[in-house]
Amino acid sequence: MHIFENVQEVLKKIATVEESCGRKTTVVGVTKSVDTKAARELVKSGIVNIAENRTELFLDKYNKMSNLDVTWHLIGTLQRRKVKEVINLVDYFHALDSVKLAQEIDKRAKHVIKCFLQVNVSGEASKHGFSPNDLDQVLAEIADLSHIQIVGLMTMAPINATDAELDSIFAKASALQRQIAAQNLTHSPCTELSMGMSRDYQRAIQHGATFVRIGSEFFK
Ligand SMILES: *Cc1c(COP(=O)(O)O)cnc(C)c1O
Repeated sequence: MHIFENVQEVLKKIATVEESCGRKTTVVGVTKSVDTKAARELVKSGIVNIAENRTELFLDKYNKMSNLDVTWHLIGTLQRRKVKEVINLVDYFHALDSVKLAQEIDKRAKHVIKCFLQVNVSGEASKHGFSPNDLDQVLAEIADLSHIQIVGLMTMAPINATDAELDSIFAKASALQRQIAAQNLTHSPCTELSMGMSRDYQRAIQHGATFVRIGSEFFK
């Protein structure tokens, strides 16, 4: 693995896209497939936003890397019974997918947790996330939870999506995010959009992603 070189390569590609759309993107490094040594190297290469998709992996990396200045992201499904173990270590949670989970987070959190509502734009049955039609209702239901702030929407495209399907999914997610942002909700500013992974981050940024979640491209 040439982590430093891979980071330079990815950042260069991102800078090019950013320039053409006049926006900045937060690059979140997903370390689920590597050990702590590689994760540390990623941080030293300049990726200071680190993500794990499972509670156990999150806790392991968090505990072993607590001496580094890292912003911590949890990006995968979180079971309600695990919320209390992990939530107070999390800066950003990308996979809020039920009102009950929001209530549990609110109950256990000691600081405001920045959350993304996960949206199932593609309608794929196996994917977690709210249906686009339910978002307004959900936002109303969680508006009183003082330890939760909805900073944005998060979506995942099907693994086998074609470029045309990716364009359609990313464009829809972006439109939904902008619709919510336009409402200027104090509790849910929703100014951010978390989408794009190793295979499609450039396309996602073109469609308005402000957070991309990249794993394998750094560790090849
Ligand atoms: C693994 C994972 C990623 C990163 O995927 P890569 O293809 O390795 O870049 C992004 N988001 C989520 C939710 C993941 O689980």
